[in-house]
Amino acid sequence: MHVLITGGAGFIGSNLVAYHIKKGDKVHVIDDLSTGRIENISLFLEHLNFKFDEANILIWQDLEKAVAWADRIYHMAAVVGVFRVLKEPISVLATNIAGCERLLRVLHNTDWNTKLIIASSSEVYGNRLENELLNEDMELHISPGHNSRWNYSISKLADEAFALSYARQYNINVTVIRFFNVIGPNQTGKYGMVVPRFVQQTVREQDITIYGDGTQQRAFLDVRDAMIYLDLLAENPLSRAEIVNVGTAREMTINQLAHAIKEYSQSSSNITYTSYEDAYGKGFDEIYHRKPDLAKLLRLTNHLPKWALEETLLDLIHHEQKKEL
Ligand code: UDP
Repeated sequence: MHVLITGGAGFIGSNLVAYHIKKGDKVHVIDDLSTGRIENISLFLEHLNFKFDEANILIWQDLEKAVAWADRIYHMAAVVGVFRVLKEPISVLATNIAGCERLLRVLHNTDWNTKLIIASSSEVYGNRLENELLNEDMELHISPGHNSRWNYSISKLADEAFALSYARQYNINVTVIRFFNVIGPNQTGKYGMVVPRFVQQTVREQDITIYGDGTQQRAFLDVRDAMIYLDLLAENPLSRAEIVNVGTAREMTINQLAHAIKEYSQSSSNITYTSYEDAYGKGFDEIYHRKPDLAKLLRLTNHLPKWALEETLLDLIHHEQKKEL
């Protein structure tokens, strides 16, 4: 199979590369290396089944050729990470929306039944009540715009609407994934992501930086399970023109996460608390709860996550410890 991955040097993108190379597929990555890193794919650069182009999806001239070659496309290229979203509010909207629309338009102009997977995000659900299960069919929340966190959510909603409209009007074979918090190798803490930040802090014996009071909750899915979900969804014709949550239901507080990572890494780091305002700037809207309804995912894939959170965290800690040696 020929697989094209936009944003393939990023966290999820590079894990998709490893997954498909291992399966014997031919993989073509385009990435402008804005958040993605060449180190994430350096292992594959000389591989016969791998090709990399450093390119911006908005203007890259060979996109038509790359799309025509592909049997499956994963569209992962986007401006991501809370810090980066707050710092670059315009490019979040421009890149994320125009990039996705261009890809859909190009795909519509090729005559091959390519399967397209588009990355959306659980951010589109906005802030929710404790224990509220987030279901693909529920109405979505976007808060009034006193900060630009919601630009990410707006950009992903526009991508979803484009994807479903192309599916309806032109019969494009697309599935939209709403990713919940996914963790694993190659994820960087530079733009926000809590797990790589806490892992690096504990391994370096630096302060662990909890934002807010640490009672906010998240559920973390191992990227290796996420890969299996994406592949199964791509292969299932019933996922066509559907939006599907990809995540896990095992919610925990950020306090519990900090203590677990500290314990597993046997670190003497102090746990510190910083206000949201000091961490992200004035008027930041935190999301306190984010728990996916996974019924649709289970129905379409029949897969339950294989990796326990403890195993994933231990793997990440060992990996970080090796880097420090
Ligand atoms: N967070 C934290 N310390 C950090 C980075 C993040 O306490 O150094 C918190 C953040 O405020 C949020 C949670 O961890 O409540 C998850 O943050 P992340 O940016 O990983 O993902 P998202 O908010 O998009 O779920």
